[in-house]
Amino acid sequence: MKNVCTHAPWGIRNYIQIGVLAVFYRNFWCRYFCPYGALMGLLALLSPLIVRRKPSDCIECGNCSAACPHRISVNQQISVISPECSGCMDCTVVCPVPGALHMEARLSANRALKPANMGTAIILLFVGLVYLAQITGHWQSHLTERDFRFGLMMMEVPSMNFDKTGPKNRPTR
Ligand code: SF4
Ligand code: SF4
Repeated sequence: MKNVCTHAPWGIRNYIQIGVLAVFYRNFWCRYFCPYGALMGLLALLSPLIVRRKPSDCIECGNCSAACPHRISVNQQISVISPECSGCMDCTVVCPVPGALHMEARLSANRALKPANMGTAIILLFVGLVYLAQITGHWQSHLTERDFRFGLMMMEVPSMNFDKTGPKNRPTR
């Protein structure tokens, strides 16, 4: 309890700072602090999909850049290669000129992917991976329900910790 009280002002101050910065900088936490976002950014660079703009069809309206949640200057690029691009396709949806901006597979240039097809492909991929994990025996954890409950209890009650002789108050079957 003492530790929680000691760190509470520090935590509250950080929450407030992040909240205030988020008012002035869109997606502030996601763009500058989130470690998961950083990992996703690295993976995004290896994505087999890419957003491409066709300068000959583009009318420079700027809708794509305005719609991008990560403030990428889409209307100034031919191919969006950025760790910040999450592949949301918001930019392609708002483009008023058919064919000027689209998502495509890197290896099959000029074959535009529609958002609906992308969504279907992602769902199928997700379901397929879960099914594959199940039939190959990688879905179930070796953790028993009893151990799981014990771990949860340990998280909720920090005072119940391990000593040199083993766990205290460990529940019996
Ligand atoms: S796909 Fe999404 S994140 Fe990527 S450039 Fe377009 S709007 Fe921005
Ligand atoms: S929304 Fe389409 S037409 Fe407008 S600037 Fe972007 S790519 Fe060009």
